[in-house]
Amino acid sequence: MAVAFVDDVRQIKEENPFESMMSRFDHAAQLLQLDPDLYKVLRVPNREITIYIPVFMDDGRIEVFTGYRVQHNFARGPAKGGIRYAPDVTLDEVRALAAWMTWKCAVVNIPFGGAKGGVICDPSQMSQSELERLTRRYTAELIDFIGPERDVPAPDMNTSEQTMAWIMDTYSMHARHTVTAVVTGKPIDLSGSQGRREATGRGLLFVTDEAVKKLGMKAENTRVVIQGSGNVGGTAARLMHETGYKIVAVSDIHGGIYNSKGLNIPDLMNYLAKHKTLEKYQDAEPVSNHELLELDCEVLLPAATENQITSHNAHKIKCRILAEGANGPTTAAADDILESNGVFVIPDILANAGGVTCSYFEWVQDRMGYFWKEDMVNERLKDIMVASFHDVVKYAENHSVNNRIAAYMLAIDRVAYVTRVRGIYA
Ligand code: NAD
Repeated sequence: MAVAFVDDVRQIKEENPFESMMSRFDHAAQLLQLDPDLYKVLRVPNREITIYIPVFMDDGRIEVFTGYRVQHNFARGPAKGGIRYAPDVTLDEVRALAAWMTWKCAVVNIPFGGAKGGVICDPSQMSQSELERLTRRYTAELIDFIGPERDVPAPDMNTSEQTMAWIMDTYSMHARHTVTAVVTGKPIDLSGSQGRREATGRGLLFVTDEAVKKLGMKAENTRVVIQGSGNVGGTAARLMHETGYKIVAVSDIHGGIYNSKGLNIPDLMNYLAKHKTLEKYQDAEPVSNHELLELDCEVLLPAATENQITSHNAHKIKCRILAEGANGPTTAAADDILESNGVFVIPDILANAGGVTCSYFEWVQDRMGYFWKEDMVNERLKDIMVASFHDVVKYAENHSVNNRIAAYMLAIDRVAYVTRVRGIYA
């Protein structure tokens, strides 16, 4: 019994996303020989806000939801990061996601710090008008803390372009004028950016292409397994399929499907849009989300949620390239196992940075009041993703560390530099 208890505690610790982030941060800071004073500053968030949000439900009752906004760092510019609605949101998760945003923006060298928001709620059990009232009250409570020069939210799990439109409208009502640059990921007709919807999936395609070239592989011989078929996974599947990759498995929260000869992705996406499930899809066999991760493939692309690859299954992962679409899909304890098995990891803070990079473009366009064509957005996205991939890989080679630690070192070094130059205001 006692041993099981110790194991449980270890597992809880391994699967705490904040612990996962901090253990990489500490390792990278140590290798960088980061100044101990700067270490004290960078290891904590700048500000953590907890909000209790009263909402009138459709039946007339009032429900009080708990929401968070963690603003991790402002050294390089306004904080930037999504808002997630889910029943299992925790402050530690939001803290980790906020820090990852700081490191992600620094890896791709865009002028933002990091933040994240979350509300504990179950959107699948709420009506659109309940979600709208929740979003507007959450925004109103944050009115002094967000803004184009302060903190710029965006969508994350279970929030959408519509959610961003409500936030933009609420903020604008308080400001007494329209402030489009307060959020990104807005509908295109509401000052959103061309290409934003696809940007995270497209960024994943760009970095996977670079990894495939680097390892002397070819897209047409490359089998890809994708966990999650939402914005990130679904877009990555479509774009990679169009590029010639063979997508052999995809999943959603209920499970996955597999066909060793490759799936017809456009047909599959139509099926998913129509039936809202992958179940009973013809020409494929069912697999669970756990089995899916362990399938034979060249590229594994987790695009669902945290803690999918842990010390319990890392040794069973067979891919050559792990392209992390989700934030924190791999625990720190799994890193060493993957490294010793020669898996080429494109870490989340690089691999899924296409979304925030295009959000940066959206913020720039909103502030200019001048909008770019999709070709230009995609070309600029490619420039940044490809350059950042090579920055990280070169850094890893020069410092004899794995790609993940290289990405953290590069990011921490950039944030530490501006913190030192700005100085500590007293
Ligand atoms: P989404 O809600 O559009 O899609 C999530 C997908 O994962 C769905 O198919 C869902 O069914 C599946 N899923 C959810 N929980 C799961 C579970 N426990 N097991 C298996 N599958 C599960 O979300 P998204 O925007 O595609 O985001 C996915 C991941 O990518 C998240 O980690 C998010 O933080 C990260 N991310 C998103 C963006 C973006 O621009 N949307 C940018 C960077 C990182």
